[in-house]
Amino acid sequence: MAEAQPSIVKDAATDVPIRLVLFGPPGAGKGTQACKLQEAYNIPQLSTGDMLRAAAKADTLLGQELSATMKAGKLVSDATMIAMIAERIDQLDCANGFILDGFPRTPEQASALDSMLQDRGEALDLVIELKVSEESVVERISGRYQCGNCLASYHKTFCPTKAENVCDRCGHTSFTQRDDDKPETVRARLASYRRNTAPVLPYYDQKGILITIDGDQSVATVASTISSTITEKQVASAAV
Ligand code: AMP
Repeated sequence: MAEAQPSIVKDAATDVPIRLVLFGPPGAGKGTQACKLQEAYNIPQLSTGDMLRAAAKADTLLGQELSATMKAGKLVSDATMIAMIAERIDQLDCANGFILDGFPRTPEQASALDSMLQDRGEALDLVIELKVSEESVVERISGRYQCGNCLASYHKTFCPTKAENVCDRCGHTSFTQRDDDKPETVRARLASYRRNTAPVLPYYDQKGILITIDGDQSVATVASTISSTITEKQVASAAV
């Protein structure tokens, strides 16, 4: 039976800006949670995977290189990723915060993010790690699909289009599976997560902003835990 679609009810305790990272392996549910959060908090989801897939569509040398890197389940260079995020967080819609989904993925990206926020007199508020078993990763990834036109990401159970088979973002009506959601690439992406990305966690733990949530729980339970964590953080920041 399809799981009921949860909605995050924003506890309007405060309107304090919130800058957060959703952290976890591919298939942990970062995109699903970010999709709920961006509506509830009116802050954008910055998915580096979505940005890269859009850039990889271009028939240019860079587009071809990005596409080959992603298809192999490898990481795009730190320099490219840092430049991409630096430009994105400068945009007006990030003034009240953002949800990073897929960035940072290496210790170098994490420290570059800190420096760019520091230069703006800002800092990350929360890093939320979604911890999941490999079996749920496989189940989640197999339900994912994307718009054939603008590449917005959806999940048949957890984050479907609002109108059946119509992209929420651009209205297009045909969908595809991501190349890098094929089983062999998923294995490479999981290996890359363990090798390059998981080592970022102690960095945030030391800063006292890391929260770990059991991502194998229902989408609704994870969503409400994230929501209360954000509210607690906002209330604490407002009190300072
Ligand atoms: P995602 O949709 O977040 O799973 O990202 C899909 C692919 O894009 C990854 O497997 C990487 O090849 C690339 N990618 C996304 N974000 C990053 C990042 N922060 N650093 C390096 N590569 C990335």
